[in-house]
Amino acid sequence: MTEISAKLDPALIDRFAAIVGDKYALRDEQDIAPYLIERRGLWHGVTSLVLRPGSVDEVSRIMRLATETGTPIVPQSGNTGLVGAQVPDKSGREVILSLSRLNRIREIDVLSNTVTVEAGVILQTLQEAADAADRLFPLSLAAQGSCQIGGNLSSNAGGTGVLAYGNARELCLGVEVVLPTGEVFDDLRKLKKDNTGYDLKNLFVGAEGTLGIITAAVLKLFPRPKGREVAFAGMSSPKAALSLFTLAMDRAGASLTAFELIGKRPYDFTLKHGQGITRPLADDWPWYVLMQVSSGRSEEDGRALIEEILAEALEQGIIGDAVVSASLAQGDAFWNFRETLPECQKPEGASIKHDISVPTAAIPEFIDKAAGVVEGVCPGARVVCFGHMGDGNLHYNISRPVDWQDEAFLALYHPMNHAVHDVVRSFHGSISAEHGIGQLKRDELIATAPPMAIDLMRRVKAAFDPAGIMNPGKVI
Ligand SMILES: Cc1cc2nc3c(=O)[nH]c(=O)nc-3n(C[C@H](O)[C@H](O)[C@H](O)COP(=O)(O)OP(=O)(O)OC[C@H]3O[C@@H](n4cnc5c(N)ncnc54)[C@H](O)[C@@H]3O)c2cc1C
Repeated sequence: MTEISAKLDPALIDRFAAIVGDKYALRDEQDIAPYLIERRGLWHGVTSLVLRPGSVDEVSRIMRLATETGTPIVPQSGNTGLVGAQVPDKSGREVILSLSRLNRIREIDVLSNTVTVEAGVILQTLQEAADAADRLFPLSLAAQGSCQIGGNLSSNAGGTGVLAYGNARELCLGVEVVLPTGEVFDDLRKLKKDNTGYDLKNLFVGAEGTLGIITAAVLKLFPRPKGREVAFAGMSSPKAALSLFTLAMDRAGASLTAFELIGKRPYDFTLKHGQGITRPLADDWPWYVLMQVSSGRSEEDGRALIEEILAEALEQGIIGDAVVSASLAQGDAFWNFRETLPECQKPEGASIKHDISVPTAAIPEFIDKAAGVVEGVCPGARVVCFGHMGDGNLHYNISRPVDWQDEAFLALYHPMNHAVHDVVRSFHGSISAEHGIGQLKRDELIATAPPMAIDLMRRVKAAFDPAGIMNPGKVI
């Protein structure tokens, strides 16, 4: 018997299990373990029950029973979240509700450019289904092979397609949500325009499972680009990268579909630790940009456009070198380089990470200022800066000094966080651009957001979840 079995009444466990059937009510510690392990290893929750409903009706009955018995519910999709929002607490009172069996694509409407999809569909599966229908579903992130649509919406995921297509919130037209009471809010509409009162769906998107359970959604599809050209460029500074961004936006407009900034340190870490990685550029540069241009007309059109931008940037001295992918495979290799960056920081020892955004124009100044405060908190700490520069979003990570022990560096977690986030705030930026709040940033959000904003969020929470059973202790 685990500590928590004593805390979650066995008779209650049986009542929940009766809703989904024994096979889909996981009680065995070994079966439950994968739901409690999260990627960063920062949070270790406890539960004695994971429920895997197979229908909206089962979700509704689970929530009705949860409300009746005051049982806290933690929704979980692909379990790839990076802020601990999908992990239960240690009380043992919380039940994990996994949505992964709700995995049907209900409809692809090619003429309306929409897809109606259940919460447990894996992001990559949806991308492939859209592709097969000659459409693009543009949400794209390194965890796409395992994260699921319910988690993407609940964390309002960003990723590499935001520049041209927007984040998860902007891709969502309608939702189906089971409320804590078990009532089903069916708002699965395909409308681009709808000015009929409060935008309820957008309360659930980005709520990190604190207001209700998303069971399905209507999402936007786009024409599938005919040409997709990827380039890697080297330059001397973030200021030069900003000039390249301005030039590329001027020339390509909405055809500029990605603009990723990579500092020399993460670039070098990736060359050193990445598996099957090849060097994109022959020479070393202080900063790099991965840029993608998509064309609705043809490959040749996309290629002509990206080459024109790069030629002009070279001529103006904005960049020092650039290479355009010679094939789809090389384009994929460039993207693989980008997606491999985060994991290549791990072998360098402990790190303190920040997922920040500032106005795009302020990025060079932010990088300058933040480097100074990092050095002030920990001389010799190594800044590992990369991210979605076109969205003003940087993963501003700090690796420990080479000769430090991990523990000594991690002891500086709070001072480092506060110092970097103070710089973010000085630019009116955000301390969580795309990963959310979860457990990781809850206290800082509460301490630093305008009190009125926190008060309004608490009132919204109380209106939807008066008993406080939806993912307690997360966000606010
Ligand atoms: C390698 C890697 C790269 C990543 N890159 C990015 C990136 O570029 N951009 C980005 O934004 N994120 C990124 N992430 C973070 C993560 O992948 C995203 O936040 C993702 O959207 C989470 O989806 P999930 O299915 O794993 O959700 P989970 O982790 O299972 O859950 C996330 C949150 O949603 C809630 N939730 C889950 N399902 C539901 C539901 N059906 N109804 C209500 N609430 C629900 C959970 O309670 C939790 O609060 C990355 C993660 C990894 C591991």
